[in-house]
Amino acid sequence: MTQTTRPFKVIISGGGVAGLSLALMLEKVGLDYVLLEAYSEIVSNKSGTGIVMLPNGNRILDQLGCYESLVHLAGNPIESVSFKDPSGELLSYTEGWQKRASERYGYMALWCDRGTVLQAMYDQIEDKSKILVDKKVDVIQQTDSEVEVTTADGSVYRGDIIVGADGVHSRVRQEIAHHASKMGLGEEYTAESVPSTYSCLFGISGKMEGLPEATLDYVLNKKFSYIIGTGPANRTYWGLMKNLGQTFHGSEIPRFGEKDKEEMIKEHWNDKIAPGVSVSDLYNNRLRPLFMAPMREYTYKRWHSGRMMMIGDAAHQMTVIIGQGGNQAVEDAAALTNHLVSALSSSTTERLSYEEIQRVFEGYQQARFDRVSRMVELSHQRQLMDSLDTPELEEIMLHKFPATLPGSVVQRWDQTFEPAACLYNLPVPARAKEFRWVNEPKDSESKDS
Ligand SMILES: Cc1cc2nc3c(=O)[nH]c(=O)nc-3n(C[C@H](O)[C@H](O)[C@H](O)COP(=O)(O)OP(=O)(O)OC[C@H]3O[C@@H](n4cnc5c(N)ncnc54)[C@H](O)[C@@H]3O)c2cc1C
Repeated sequence: MTQTTRPFKVIISGGGVAGLSLALMLEKVGLDYVLLEAYSEIVSNKSGTGIVMLPNGNRILDQLGCYESLVHLAGNPIESVSFKDPSGELLSYTEGWQKRASERYGYMALWCDRGTVLQAMYDQIEDKSKILVDKKVDVIQQTDSEVEVTTADGSVYRGDIIVGADGVHSRVRQEIAHHASKMGLGEEYTAESVPSTYSCLFGISGKMEGLPEATLDYVLNKKFSYIIGTGPANRTYWGLMKNLGQTFHGSEIPRFGEKDKEEMIKEHWNDKIAPGVSVSDLYNNRLRPLFMAPMREYTYKRWHSGRMMMIGDAAHQMTVIIGQGGNQAVEDAAALTNHLVSALSSSTTERLSYEEIQRVFEGYQQARFDRVSRMVELSHQRQLMDSLDTPELEEIMLHKFPATLPGSVVQRWDQTFEPAACLYNLPVPARAKEFRWVNEPKDSESKDS
């Protein structure tokens, strides 16, 4: 473990995947922080969607001591991957993914509730007094030497920097944009350019006859597609991604309520997702209220201003189909931690100066910008493919692509995982693997087989 003795305090706004992973990382490297979460609990078992955690995120969770417990809590790593045609009939079925993924990358891919990932991280945090709930970040003020944050209940917190890990509608990003516009830089932070072409209706249902355990299924359709996963505790995770008919931007992007969910379900009631399984079956077996939101696809041009910086969905948003939003949020937290540790260990002043903080933020953004932009682009392309967006894509996806599996998925995964971030100052537990990650910790214990 790295112990950084120089005084430095991070205020984290938001206790989702990005914020909680950052909190755990800062504790592990010996940096002070406080996490402020608006909601009344960190881990909720009543709401939230499902998430696929992939080897790039899981490697970092392993460094944090969470991977084994996540596998234990999630319980059912993905074993088969299927592509299906619009009538729910198989185009391609491949199995052996638990063995393939662990032998190749050292880690499996798994479905679980978002709350389960948070639980695995929260369990590892030793000093839970730094994780505060019912603390909605409201006012952020900066001076030359610190940032002062006031939450909706009137509490005040002071630190060296604030990290906005507060999601798509980030309060910190609003404040960054406000601060930047006072300096004539507002354009680079505005949400008005953010596009959205697809919506996502997401549900968690009970076990379905006709869907085997531990699957990851994609059902292709014209202008919409499904992602289906069978995970732990007999759960079926399912998402319907639908083209909105046009690309909306910024404040034009529609919001969805209960009526929209009902209409969407009615319209797709008879869609087949497997032989003998329709959307109506998923709906009738739902375990939680459905979630529906527009999928924004964007990398904000700049992620920081003054002593404020943002990570995760606050800084970049992508479609859900390649399962990278949360995994990238964990990578973000790791990269930011690396930059902070490096600056604090090399600085000669007692506290990091304002200029040194700017260099940390700039270095962090440079390290991450191209990678997350590529993920936004890849997830867009993949959504076009699954929703058979053009006659060419229809021909490829229904007639040529199925024969290329599993090789084409492995190739795509290799390209996605290879440049993944990791924590430089914490070891990766030794695991046999064939794959070479570009970034390894400084004193890597990992073994290539
Ligand atoms: C349907 C769906 C399926 C998905 N599937 C996958 C998948 O399979 N794999 C994957 O990697 N990703 C997936 N994603 C994306 C992933 O969930 C997000 O990218 C990830 O959760 C982003 O984490 P975050 O911490 O940045 O933001 P969030 O998870 O949105 O967390 C933000 C937190 O900040 C809090 N907050 C907000 N405002 C304030 C404030 N003012 N003060 C304090 N706290 C505040 C919120 O309450 C919340 O807890 C999916 C997303 C959706 C919607």
